[in-house]
Formats: sequence, structure tokens, C-alpha cells
Amino acid sequence: MNPALLTDEEKMIKEMADRFAKERLYDGYRERALSHDPLDRGLIKEMGELGLLTPNVPEEYGGIGASSFVNGLICESIAYGDFNLSYLNMTNPLMSDVIMRFGSEEMKQDVLPKMATGELISALGLTEPRGGSDAGNLILKAERTDTGYILNGEKTSMTYATQADNVLMFARTGTVESGPYGVSAFLVDLNLPGVSRTEFEDIGCKPVGRGSVFFDNVEIPHSALLGKENEGFTKIMVGFDLSRVLIALQCLGAAQVSVNETWQYVQEREAFGVPIVKFQGVSFPLAEHESKLQAIRALAYQTLKLRDGGHDHTSEAAMLKWMAPKYSTDIIQNCLLLNGHYGYTTDLPIQQRMLDVMGLQIGDGTAQIMKTIISREKVGKISLQNK
Ligand SMILES: Cc1cc2nc3c(=O)[nH]c(=O)nc-3n(C[C@H](O)[C@H](O)[C@H](O)COP(=O)(O)OP(=O)(O)OC[C@H]3O[C@@H](n4cnc5c(N)ncnc54)[C@H](O)[C@@H]3O)c2cc1C
Repeated sequence: MNPALLTDEEKMIKEMADRFAKERLYDGYRERALSHDPLDRGLIKEMGELGLLTPNVPEEYGGIGASSFVNGLICESIAYGDFNLSYLNMTNPLMSDVIMRFGSEEMKQDVLPKMATGELISALGLTEPRGGSDAGNLILKAERTDTGYILNGEKTSMTYATQADNVLMFARTGTVESGPYGVSAFLVDLNLPGVSRTEFEDIGCKPVGRGSVFFDNVEIPHSALLGKENEGFTKIMVGFDLSRVLIALQCLGAAQVSVNETWQYVQEREAFGVPIVKFQGVSFPLAEHESKLQAIRALAYQTLKLRDGGHDHTSEAAMLKWMAPKYSTDIIQNCLLLNGHYGYTTDLPIQQRMLDVMGLQIGDGTAQIMKTIISREKVGKISLQNK
């Protein structure tokens, strides 16, 4: 985002996040990404001390009551230094926003300050083995009892599966036939008896640790319910427009750092007696990448302004969610090629960013699902196959 368009406070927060990303994250990203270690809790706590984890929540719960726009600035800056750690700048605002709107006072006081300091990592549990796109027909069961609910079933493909402390999850409280109208949202402690977890062997985002979480007669109290019973899908899922914009900014950060590194390389590398940047076959693709990234960035920050102003932004969020991961993956791949044979080694971080960013072409909904949303927003239910 061009600093000329920011307020003094926004500029200050962005400069702080940029400095942290460049000084504390950039150098170690490749090594951390290649390892099988979970996200570095020490670095997460440092992010918490700087107020970068949940700026959106009010001061009384550990934040600064910042706008979604500010969340976006931080998310893009952190992704520039470390794509994997920037997941927290996407999931924390999403989860804390839902808790702020639908959680009890007790839940807010218990959970939000710990999310702000980085003491607590919160996962999102929506996808099940039977499929993620058709999430409204999920089957994991939450059975009501006198004291609360009993959970049985599996959530899969969950980011932070093996390291999360709790999960904002969606479970069936109504009949199977009620589809999305029989789903409730809960905040569940993942250290309860009956919870077990496994981790996937992913091609990217290894420190984030995607995997499955199994619930075997897990007892949770009534107070774990967010909002009203059976309204989890229809009311709470609305918040997901935010994560779609933040995902776009994560991808932009990773693409921009790859483009900047490549501009540097092509000025230093010589062929046929001149720096290769003199060849338009080299400079023009980079100029096109800059143009695309600026266009997506402009839409992303405009969409966050719409959100902050209380305006509808579902269509814009879906546009960003398919375009940014797709174009960023393509841009990073082209940067890899412009670095020649060095680009193909794991010595450079570019290949790692390409694999990391590609995952978000799928996570939080695929391009097909986003295009379905854009079509529905434009012309209504007539565009839906099953209506
Ligand atoms: C990196 C990553 C992180 C993730 N993190 C989380 C997380 O934290 N929590 C969570 O709950 N889930 C998470 N997911 C899961 C993700 O949200 C799902 O994978 C996604 O929604 C797609 O579901 P699926 O994989 O079951 O594919 P399916 O739903 O089986 O779809 C398979 C293919 O068919 C296409 N398709 C399906 N229906 C249609 C249709 N109507 N029209 C056109 N095409 C269609 C899809 O686009 C896709 O290409 C993550 C996934 C990844 C890769």
C-alpha cells in the first residue's frame, strides 16, 4: 500500500510490521519452512508483544481496536518476511472477530488476551473427510446433553492441527436433511479427553502443520456454543469474507518479496556481456508482475475499507480469494525461472514460497467455489447448479 495514502497511525504500524518482517523473519524463513518444526512460539510471542496478532480487538481484550484495513497492512508485511507465520495474521483476526461478535463475555475475557499475546493458537475446523466445498452438509455430530454437548467425528485438513490450543469448529446439531440450517459453531479446547490428532506430509507450509483432528465422545460445556444453535453456518460464516481478503494479502506479500529479489538478481547477473535486466524478455514479465500485484493490492485494500464501513464486500472478497493465490503462484514460478538454475535449488526461498502459496488456491475454498459466489452475487440463485 502506498504510504502516501495512509494516516500517520497506519504508517507507524505498517513500518513496525515491515521492520519486524525484514529484521526478524526474512533470513530464517527458508530454514524454518524446510524443517518439520511447528511454528516458532518464541517469534509468535514477539509478534504478540508488538501488538501484531489481534490488533482488531478492543484494548480491554489485548488489542488496539484497529480496523480490518490495519489487519491487512500487517498481514501483507509479515507474509513478506515469512508466509507461514502470516497465517496467524489471517486466522487470528478472523477467529477473534467471530468471538467478539458471538462469544460470551467470559469467553472473550478468557481467550482474546491469550490470542493477542501469542500464548494461544486457534484453529478453524470446517472441512471433513467427505469434502470441503460442500461444507454446509458437514456431518460431525454435536449431541445436546443436560450439561453441554458430546462431539463425535473427524475434522480434516485443519491448519495448525497438531499445535492448536483450541478450535473454532462447526458441527451438526440439527438433522442431516437440514443442511446448512442444522449447523452450530463451538469454541473447543483441544486438550480435552477424547481428542486425538494426526499431521499430513504436505508439500508446503510445513511449520503450519495441516492434519486431522478426531473427536471421540468429547464432552464440552454449553458455554462453548457461539451464537445460537443451528445458526453457525448461516450467521457466523459471514465473517469468512475477512479471511479471504487477508489470504490475498498473504499471497501478495510472498509474491512481492520474490519479485523484489528477482529485480535485484537480474541487475547483477550478466549474459552476452550485459546485465540480463536489459533484455525485455526479462524485464517485461517483472513489469507485468508489478502491475498485477498493484491491481490486486488496490482491490484488497478497497475491500477492507468496504468492510470497515459496514458495506457488503462478499463478491470482492471472493474475487480476491481466487485471483491472488493463483496469480501469486504463477508470478513466483516465473521469478524462479528468471533466477535460472539457482532458482531450482532449495538454496533460494523462491521454490518454497511457490509451494506455500499454492496451498491457498485450495484452503478457505477453491477458485471454482469463489466463482460460484461471484456469479450468485451478480445474478442470484439462478446461477446455482443445485437450486
Ligand atoms: C493449505 C490448506 C489449508 C487449509 N486449512 C483449512 C483449515 O484450517 N480448516 C478447514 O476446515 N479446512 C482447511 N482446508 C481445507 C480446504 O478448505 C478444503 O480443501 C477446500 O474447501 C476444498 O475441499 P476438498 O479438498 O474436500 O475438495 P472437494 O470439495 O472434494 O473438491 C474437489 C474439487 O472439485 C471442485 N468442486 C467441488 N464442488 C464443485 C462445484 N460445485 N463446482 C465446481 N467445482 C467444484 C473443487 O473446486 C475441487 O477442485 C485447507 C486446505 C489447504 C490446502
